[in-house]
Amino acid sequence: MSEGCRPFREQLGPLALGHLPDPEVASVRAHVDGCADCREELRALEEAAGALALVDPELLDEPLAPPRGLGDRIVSLVREERLLEQRRRRRRLTGLLAAAVLAGALAAVTLGIAHDPGVRVLLEPQRGGLEAIPARLVERPWGTEVRLEASGLPAGRYVVWLREPDDDRVPAGSFDAVADAGEVVLASALAIDGAVGIGVSEADGTTVLYGHLRD
Ligand SMILES: [Zn+2]
Repeated sequence: MSEGCRPFREQLGPLALGHLPDPEVASVRAHVDGCADCREELRALEEAAGALALVDPELLDEPLAPPRGLGDRIVSLVREERLLEQRRRRRRLTGLLAAAVLAGALAAVTLGIAHDPGVRVLLEPQRGGLEAIPARLVERPWGTEVRLEASGLPAGRYVVWLREPDDDRVPAGSFDAVADAGEVVLASALAIDGAVGIGVSEADGTTVLYGHLRD
């Protein structure tokens, strides 16, 4: 928090709850309008205030007197919860993906369904001794199907991921490269539109191949 924000921070809670005296509202609003940090803080507080509004004060024994610092704690809890929920959602999806991909592959084989050609991207070597390999990304209702040509990679285990604009890696699975591995089919919960690139790394996380999708 910057020094300029300090006098306003304790007023954000009362403002969010509509308890700030009128004469002070204008100056706090003016600061919030010009300060992205305090705006984000106020937004989170208003979210928490919305939840508090659902509490019936009639059911409480004592008048409400929130302890100092409660606002900050609620804000960080809301943030953490949001991050955890995103991760949980991804993990759940990843579990379902293996089954979905298997079912999809079986259906494609038995029914001879024509495949969406998807987006083609060349994975460029990120270190010596490797050749570029072609990959294909196909949009699916559950995310992105990733197909890549594993022949020509040195033997070993590789991890495939899609890169988000904020540099987070969303896993698409892993595979063992063996001689004549052929095409490997993997799956990521991330939609193609959400990915800016696709990477292949070794088990220790070192990126060995990378394909750029968009800026
Ligand atoms: Zn501020």
